[in-house]
Amino acid sequence: MKSILTGRDALKTVVDNIAEVAGYLWQNGWAERNGGNITVNITELIDEEIRHLPAIAARKPIGVTLTALRGGYFFCKGTGKRMRDLARQPMQNGAVIRITDDCAHYEIIADNTIMPTSELPSHLMVHNRLIEQGSPYRATLHTHPTELIAMTHHRPFLEKDVLTQLLWSMIPETKAFCPLGLGIVPYTLAGSVQLANATLSQLEEYDVVMWEKHGVFAKGLDIMDAFDQVDVLSKSAKIYINGCAMGFRPEGMSVEQMSEMTRAFNLPK
Ligand SMILES: [Zn+2]
Repeated sequence: MKSILTGRDALKTVVDNIAEVAGYLWQNGWAERNGGNITVNITELIDEEIRHLPAIAARKPIGVTLTALRGGYFFCKGTGKRMRDLARQPMQNGAVIRITDDCAHYEIIADNTIMPTSELPSHLMVHNRLIEQGSPYRATLHTHPTELIAMTHHRPFLEKDVLTQLLWSMIPETKAFCPLGLGIVPYTLAGSVQLANATLSQLEEYDVVMWEKHGVFAKGLDIMDAFDQVDVLSKSAKIYINGCAMGFRPEGMSVEQMSEMTRAFNLPK
């Protein structure tokens, strides 16, 4: 069967980027087994021919009604699929889905009947909110960055913006390239509606949200942007942990040095 990507360079580039990031997640040790999810809104790249493609599997309920997603198309990692496999064969480990007109169901249209991630409802809830806000963001990412998760096992780091200030102070790039900082969601059962709602709430203020003792959830303009923000935060976490491993608590940039950056680079915080 011909792939939906054949002859569609822009769509193929988006899927290639997803595969590239999936490889980075695996190489970084952030994606053990089937850990992590990627969902990207590809609606802008959908042509008339794709709109008329029949579903290749029975429609499924999303579990919520998301009215901003009517007629939307998404690439989603498959449930139980591994990031390391998605990196090599994205269309065998992920699928393109269409949101049906009732905004409460989805159907798989290409290339294979790969059922989407079990976290699809929470990812789609975030995309629904982004569209309502007129946001240019198209990608959501969930992954398990070891050092950042380790830091959430220390209760004082879970207070609002304590981790943000600490991570920003480790290296200037982190403040520059993750300029909204890191939100915190207290420990909540994976896959629950409570976790999805708490994530939505934190994403009003931050691009990257830490799920206590679990992982990060990030949104970005595209999947590279979402990955880069998590990557710079992870770099800072590694610097902090390296300092601690050498027997000292890293000094960090001063409050004045960070304010100087905010002014010099016109940062939001
Ligand atoms: Zn997870």
